[in-house]
Amino acid sequence: MKIKLTLLSALILISGLLKAQDSLMIRKIYDEELVNGQCYGNLHYLCKNIGQRISGSANAQKAVEWGKKLMESYGFDRVFLQPVMVPHWVRGAKEEGAIIKGDTKISVHIAALGMSVATPQNGVTAPVIEVHSLKELETLGKDVIKGKIVFFNRPFDPKFIETLWAYGTAGDQRNAGPAVAAKYGAVGVIVRSLTESLDNFPHTGATSVVKDGVNIPAAAISTIDANKLSTMLKMRSLPAVKFYFKQSCKTLPDAPSFNVVGEMKGTENPNKFITVGGHLDSWDLAEGAHDDGTGVMQSVEALRLLKVLGYKPKNSIRAVFFINEENGDRGGIKYAELAAENKEEHIAAIESDLGGFTPRGFTFEGASPAWIQNINGKWGKLLAPYGSGTLAAGGGGSDIGPLIEKQKGVILIGYLPDSQRYFDVHHTPNDVFENVNKRELELGAASMASLIYLIDMHGFN
Ligand SMILES: [Zn+2]
Repeated sequence: MKIKLTLLSALILISGLLKAQDSLMIRKIYDEELVNGQCYGNLHYLCKNIGQRISGSANAQKAVEWGKKLMESYGFDRVFLQPVMVPHWVRGAKEEGAIIKGDTKISVHIAALGMSVATPQNGVTAPVIEVHSLKELETLGKDVIKGKIVFFNRPFDPKFIETLWAYGTAGDQRNAGPAVAAKYGAVGVIVRSLTESLDNFPHTGATSVVKDGVNIPAAAISTIDANKLSTMLKMRSLPAVKFYFKQSCKTLPDAPSFNVVGEMKGTENPNKFITVGGHLDSWDLAEGAHDDGTGVMQSVEALRLLKVLGYKPKNSIRAVFFINEENGDRGGIKYAELAAENKEEHIAAIESDLGGFTPRGFTFEGASPAWIQNINGKWGKLLAPYGSGTLAAGGGGSDIGPLIEKQKGVILIGYLPDSQRYFDVHHTPNDVFENVNKRELELGAASMASLIYLIDMHGFN
């Protein structure tokens, strides 16, 4: 009995020491970041000296080269590029859009959806039919839709607390809407911008194109202009409302590009990996600050923090700048393919792609509720004092998503910041550096480094 008690006390003592060691290390990570953090300055360079970096563009290539140099300057064990072919879509001249009623022409704010086709050279003008769902198109049928411009106007559902859910449930209008409308003979599509904000920014984003089928031009319209159009359609007075828009975007042949990878080699399990990343490409309307400049800069910062604190990881740790998340996911797919080909065992992959706002915690994909509860009891408590203690079931991210098909047992983890302001700037001309807060960005980077440390130290068992 006496021996048992002694053993028990020893175990309690060891577990207490480990906890103290963990909380000390996490404190060190935050101190280093909040005093000497570099991610805000790096984000400034990416946004202001490079700027928009849509896949296939010269700026995307500049970002790849700069990203590689940045990682090399941090002295990681290995920095390398993963070649991958990416789609190359270009917007062309600034789009024009107008609501027409008789002799009245009201200009509106529109932006072509990514991957969309152009209108004819003089634009397209047609009567408008407003719908709120894909199902409604089906109900109306070809007779009603043929020859018209379909106007998808289902707003964000404000009842969701996490705005990402509202984005998810409204998103089919932009992703699939144009292709479905084309099937019913529409001549163009206008989609209400995917945001709850009432403003004059059109929010672009990818739409699906049909291979070898009919594709019609599609554009996003600002929410203020969407409301204007809807109000005018409801008047029902003659002459009937028409819509005009003109865009000259096109898809060029695929272009060569790269993922950028920086690695700290594991001291015990060099072939086991913990990957952290975001996407380097951005939409072309602004600087891709929150989407996803913050994510890539936080990822490399997480590695820098561990390195500068002299941490020697047991497993290999990688920061990855994925290319082409916005209109193809080719970088993420390539990363998973190469991981399988090279027989690299991934324990976990973390993605930051929901903006650089105040951290709340992380979401876990591929883990059971009991497992998440257990993790909350251990790591949630350590991260809670820093505001990052929410560990919940949820998505990982589009770049790391393909890993789950290729790697049995990998846990995908999404960095979860506060989501209330993300869709104010998402895919708009307003996604600029000035809208990123230094402390919020840094707290996020430190929380990611802390989680990597915990996974590396303790694994998932
Ligand atoms: Zn993104």
